[in-house]
Amino acid sequence: MAGKVFLVGAGPGDPELLTIKALRALQSADVVLHDDLISAEILAFARKTAHIRSVGKRCGRKSVQQQEINALMIAFASFGLKVVRLKSGDPLLFGRAGEEIASLRQANVDFEIVPGVTSALASAAAVGASLTHREKSSAVVFVTAHQAPSGSNPDWQTYVRSGATLAIYMPGSHYEIVASRLLAGGLSSDTPCVLVSRASTPDEQVRRTTIRNLSAAPPLPAPALLLVGDVFQTNEIEVGHAAVDAGLPLGQRPIPLPPTAFEIFAANQVFWGD
Ligand code: SAH
Repeated sequence: MAGKVFLVGAGPGDPELLTIKALRALQSADVVLHDDLISAEILAFARKTAHIRSVGKRCGRKSVQQQEINALMIAFASFGLKVVRLKSGDPLLFGRAGEEIASLRQANVDFEIVPGVTSALASAAAVGASLTHREKSSAVVFVTAHQAPSGSNPDWQTYVRSGATLAIYMPGSHYEIVASRLLAGGLSSDTPCVLVSRASTPDEQVRRTTIRNLSAAPPLPAPALLLVGDVFQTNEIEVGHAAVDAGLPLGQRPIPLPPTAFEIFAANQVFWGD
């Protein structure tokens, strides 16, 4: 029987954010090849008999070369095994899935992709802000601050000009570098930004600041992501609330309880008495 490779997104960390499809793939895999960011809690879903191997590349230290990962997937599948290649977040974002797909195609190995919740979405959820907003941003850019030696540099100016919300993966710990690139790209220094570390896990941390003050922010533990854009402004009052609350100081506002049964009764007396 021919084997198959599943490129599976494990989501941002919280095991409850695995898709049912990802869970089923994990539960039935013969072999699991996983990245560094996958927690023991998620790996525990695999069968006790499954062969589980870390193929992570921590901090640029290439513990396992990409060619070796490709060769492992192809070899296990050609033995007729069900291989889960488990990646954090979504497998198709900043996870070298392109190289793996190309090698599987070339080797004629059957494969399937199982999407996952990418960390930018979990980070936005942690912040409690919408990445798009009818008045502030109609686009989101997923971009990495990490530059591959041979890769192309992100065109920060184009992203800034577009007015899109930026979800910056791998911002590093020297935030002044990414801040200076954004400023050089024309971004206003007042633009709000949020650092989110370990989104969706018990260690989650959220730091709000502005591009001007980003350099002074203490580095948060990896993995962390930087969200940038006007959608992260916090001092706004929603239009509807502003009209109601404008006159009263914060401490004196009435508690907005629903009308009691008596009030409804009394209000209706006007009509009944007529
Ligand atoms: N495929 C992954 C991204 C892999 S690149 C995805 O879709 O999320 C690794 C980078 O993702 C990290 O450097 C960090 O910027 C981000 N990241 C991954 N998990 C994260 C988390 N739980 N919280 C914040 N950022 C995270």
